[in-house]
Amino acid sequence: MDTRNIQVVKDLLATPQKIVIVAHQNPDGDAIGSSLGLFYFLKSMPEHQVSVVMPNDFPEFLKWLPGVDEVQIFEKDMEGVSAIISRASVIFTLDFNTFSRVGKMEMALREATAKFVMIDHHQLPDTYATATFSDVTMSSTSEYVFHVIKSLQPEYLISKEIGTCLYTGIMTDTGSFRYATTSPTTHRVAATLLEAGVSNAAIHEHVFDANTPQRMNLLGVALKNLVVLPEYRTAYITLTQQELDENHFRKGDTEGFVNYALSVRGVILAAIFIENKQEQIVKISFRSKGIFSVNDFARNYFNGGGHINAAGGRSNKSLEETIIEFKTILKEHKASLNAD
Ligand code: 5GP
Ligand code: MN
Repeated sequence: MDTRNIQVVKDLLATPQKIVIVAHQNPDGDAIGSSLGLFYFLKSMPEHQVSVVMPNDFPEFLKWLPGVDEVQIFEKDMEGVSAIISRASVIFTLDFNTFSRVGKMEMALREATAKFVMIDHHQLPDTYATATFSDVTMSSTSEYVFHVIKSLQPEYLISKEIGTCLYTGIMTDTGSFRYATTSPTTHRVAATLLEAGVSNAAIHEHVFDANTPQRMNLLGVALKNLVVLPEYRTAYITLTQQELDENHFRKGDTEGFVNYALSVRGVILAAIFIENKQEQIVKISFRSKGIFSVNDFARNYFNGGGHINAAGGRSNKSLEETIIEFKTILKEHKASLNAD
């Protein structure tokens, strides 16, 4: 842990602050889990005012987490949330590292006069923060928050609430402890959270056994649309706006679909292309195995980024054109896709 940065945060928290915690657009389990975990920790210091804000709403399968009622959504109350941000003296930005990741809330962050603290595990952090905790080897921002808490207050006893939030973030961002960033330390942190009273079985059930029939039907459509390109060791899925509408799509419904493409034998690059007529974009998720960097791929061709093996991006072209473009780009990468 970076002791200089820890000291910077300690100094900030030494006087009463108006704190805002914010995570990225389309918040996932790690974004919400790390934010609420940190929220409960900071709330245990009564001298501070603490708010949690998100650019837009988060999926139903996270709405059972302790503290979700505290989360204020910018998209639902732009004036209110902008006011909270402009009044803040300290803003923690979690699970992202560049202001463009907060969508329409970007301006509010840019205009803020607060000191920023970044806690994140994505590549290429921007330099807006007074204290930048950035480590791409970290399994999740939630694990990172655990280490920051423990560095700030080594004797601090993690409560069941904090533990539940952080465990959810770690579990979802590591694909239930299966991705390569899951370290021995990740498991030790998880063990500590279980000792704090966290119920791993209950969390798994809340997150993974919360499928609606509509989501299962949409998954059926997605799997039917699966295309495998063995020559590129690539598989992709498409979903049109019409297919989403027909299956009563709700936010979060397509979460994890891309992993089915990656689970095809021999595939090392997977993508899902989801048409969004309202925003006039195609939202893309990429996953890979091994050294093929979807972070670079998304960054170079699809206005996105993320991690080496999990990234996202977007295209302003039609779904059909986007697929054609994707296949053209694949040609250029044929050698590296077949490298090992
Ligand atoms: P997902 O595909 O699950 O939406 O995102 C996978 C990873 O890529 C996440 O860590 C997420 O933060 C990141 N990511 C997703 N979309 C974008 C994007 O448009 N830009 C950047 N920089 N990162 C993204
Ligand atoms: Mn994360």
